[in-house]
Amino acid sequence: MKRNMTCIACPLGCSLTVEYSEGLDDVTVTGNRCAKGEVYAREEILAPKRTVTATVSLTAGELSRLPVRTDRALEKELIADLLTELYRIEVSAPVAPGDRVLTDFRGTGVNVIATRRCGSRSDE
Ligand code: SF4
Repeated sequence: MKRNMTCIACPLGCSLTVEYSEGLDDVTVTGNRCAKGEVYAREEILAPKRTVTATVSLTAGELSRLPVRTDRALEKELIADLLTELYRIEVSAPVAPGDRVLTDFRGTGVNVIATRRCGSRSDE
């Protein structure tokens, strides 16, 4: 089997071609200008991951929603479950960038962190 993709590991965006056997035990990557491209392409075929950005509910803050992101890439198949969990989370202000709003999602080691500061309403 064959799949074409664009490497997103750096701004050059090399066009990669990945050829792989049905059992995924034989994967060949071409078109990459560096080793990162091969790592990216193999991961896309074997276990695709993405960094997830979202917002969570914020109480007593100057905003009603807090922007958050995962601190590393999460397996694509778990993203819908993570978003469902983030939909239920409520965080209280004040919050600083990097504060954790969710730790070790489903034992993956992936945390969800705030991406901006948000003071409490009483700070205004
Ligand atoms: S293969 Fe290397 S040079 Fe090309 S886009 Fe990926 S990281 Fe950048």
